[in-house]
Amino acid sequence: MIYLDANATTPLHPAVMAAMMPALREVFANPSSVHKPGQDARALVDRAREQCGAALGCDPREIVFTSGGTEADALAVRGLSRRKLVTTAVEHPAVLGACAELERAGVEVVRVQVDRTGQLDLTALDTALEGADLCSAMAANNETGVIFPLREIGELCRKHRVPFHTDAVQAAGKMPLRIRELPIDLASCSAHKLGGPKGAGLLWVRRGLQLAPVQVGGHQERGRRGGTENVAGIVGLGEALERACAALATEEPRLAGLRDRLEAAANRIPGSRVAGAGAARVCNTSNVAFEGCEGEALLAALDLAGVAISTGSACSSGTLEPSPVLLAMGYPPELARGAVRFSLWSGTTAEQIQRVCELLPGVVEQTRNPRRIRG
Ligand code: PLP
Repeated sequence: MIYLDANATTPLHPAVMAAMMPALREVFANPSSVHKPGQDARALVDRAREQCGAALGCDPREIVFTSGGTEADALAVRGLSRRKLVTTAVEHPAVLGACAELERAGVEVVRVQVDRTGQLDLTALDTALEGADLCSAMAANNETGVIFPLREIGELCRKHRVPFHTDAVQAAGKMPLRIRELPIDLASCSAHKLGGPKGAGLLWVRRGLQLAPVQVGGHQERGRRGGTENVAGIVGLGEALERACAALATEEPRLAGLRDRLEAAANRIPGSRVAGAGAARVCNTSNVAFEGCEGEALLAALDLAGVAISTGSACSSGTLEPSPVLLAMGYPPELARGAVRFSLWSGTTAEQIQRVCELLPGVVEQTRNPRRIRG
């Protein structure tokens, strides 16, 4: 099977699994326990915190370990916003869901639109930020890979004295990200998108920011997230993040080159459109719509041919609704329904991409309904 659905999840890297094994076997104690076994577990958590801090360019003490990207997003959004929240129309459901919940509780939520290439309307953002108590805008889009200009967004937030949260789940380990050097105040990451285990993530919170905990209980994570730490998951997150960031200098151009080959083949197919083609994008993501096709049918045909892809975000697959992200980029619903996402990872090879390039024209031809192709 050629697995090209890394934005949904990645397999556990063997070195990450090896690093996790002590925490799954002998180092079993509760890191809050004062005895020696407890302190051994605490040392593993502390080491992972250092690894994450070094990989992201932030102070390890500013890191709050969570159960993944969704919880990190919810903690940022629910932990800070009380009056007015500014976000974007193309966020992951983890952010949009937390925002909708606040909206039902009476918080004003403004969703800033994007243009045809997926770029944020910074003038609209500037206006929307007036009187806001939080801005949440993602670093890289999970469906299209489009990168938002974090520095510009952060500077606008600074101008309005609004804390800035970025969902960096699809950016960390795929593009250079030194978060403390940017005008950002909070950032979410998830282990399973970069060779780590599912169920582990983090929220980085700039020192001085008062964050109300969402999950209350014990005093873990400096009182910002109650609950016994998932020691093995945290160890896996630290190892995966360190490895992905260390490999970036070679992996980023390699994956971008493979993605470009895939897109060149897709572009040769009449009636195809690459999302965000003119915008800055992360190296591993390509979203291509084929006129007259159903994304679900393309997915099924490629699956049969041994290629695993997605029709958009995993959370919305299984529904036949066109992607809200592509609709926000001005796609006609018919074209958005014909979109599929290829997302590459460290295990993707040139031979695999070559095979997909050869298969793609035939699969599109086979699934295409000629009556649905425009003029
Ligand atoms: N944010 C983005 C941009 C994502 O792509 C995802 C996962 O698809 C999440 C958040 C949720 O992360 P997790 O699966 O770790 O909860």
